Amino acid sequence: MAQRPILLNPGPVTLTERVRAALTRADWCHREPEFAQLTRAINRDLAAVYPDLGAGFDAVLMTGSGTAAVEAMLASFAPEAHRTLVLANGVYGERMAKMLAAHGRPHGVLSHRWTEPVDTARLERTLAEDRSITHVAVVHHETTTGRLNDLDAIGRVCKAFGARLLVDAVSSFGAEQLDVAECNIAALAATANKCLHGAPGLSFVLARRELWQAPPSRAVSVYLDLFGYHRVQHDSGFSPFTQAVPAAFALAEALAELRDEGGWLARRALYRRRAARIAAVLEQAGVRTLLAPSEYSAVLWSYVLPEGLSYTALHDALKREGFVIYAGQGDLGAQIFRIAHMGDIREPDLDRLCAALSRILPGPR
Ligand SMILES: *Cc1c(COP(=O)(O)O)cnc(C)c1O
Repeated sequence: MAQRPILLNPGPVTLTERVRAALTRADWCHREPEFAQLTRAINRDLAAVYPDLGAGFDAVLMTGSGTAAVEAMLASFAPEAHRTLVLANGVYGERMAKMLAAHGRPHGVLSHRWTEPVDTARLERTLAEDRSITHVAVVHHETTTGRLNDLDAIGRVCKAFGARLLVDAVSSFGAEQLDVAECNIAALAATANKCLHGAPGLSFVLARRELWQAPPSRAVSVYLDLFGYHRVQHDSGFSPFTQAVPAAFALAEALAELRDEGGWLARRALYRRRAARIAAVLEQAGVRTLLAPSEYSAVLWSYVLPEGLSYTALHDALKREGFVIYAGQGDLGAQIFRIAHMGDIREPDLDRLCAALSRILPGPR
């Protein structure tokens, strides 16, 4: 492959040269003070990505993919004496319900079809009827379809009932708005290798400072007990277990790069420009979006496969040109393809992608 491959899947992303170079910076022991210092700097920088997080939230950094951080958040903060209500309209919402079940935490699920928005009227009725619900778990950007769930509206309902929001922000952190006060967010989980443009291997949870004082339940996991991490990371900077040291170098660099480029707002604007450009080419080729354009995040859009073109054929044709797209999940597998806008995608890459799409797709009929 002459060109560097361009990843249009929802993480991991194509790294910038600056971040990739950081991966090989040094061999460090995770139990030495220089790594403790790096960990503290990363936790500070993570909380600084959004101004109102910095004021009231502590980050905890862990080694593992985004799923590990979401599961650690639920294992650590979903109570055992009260119920957590999961709002599910895709794979990742449904996964949170599986995690709560695996950890034996009382919960209910407000299930939706994957193409539906979260029904806030139903949420309100459920919270009014069942006063044992103290926590609500929701995915911010449901990557299954590309839908940006309306955290403000969901958060307002939760706030009115005093329910704490636990958010899977894995594919939105760093590129979509997170108004933690307005949305009544108690904790959120995310990863290094999506909108932050770091390397895979590290993920993190940010939670309100007061929540770190005492665990609401007895820990049912050793590795996923975030209170153990918080105690040592915010005391000495050390971590209970071996961290992905190269990924930490990359994440620190990626956070510096995000700052240099103007922060999450600039990143969202960049993704929106990429989304608009790709969507215009696909519309020209007669390809429909799965959701209405206004429902999408800036991060990823989903498209209906044109009749007569299989996902595999489209994927393989694009792969030959150096682009990796992503399939739909579950029942959507045979119906859609997804294109994410994260990572180091430059203008010439976009030009080549748009030319390739125009060439490969059959065009309007
Ligand atoms: C990518 C993603 C995850 C976690 O995926 P990993 O493969 O474990 O990194 C969780 N939730 C959402 C919304 C995601 O997009």
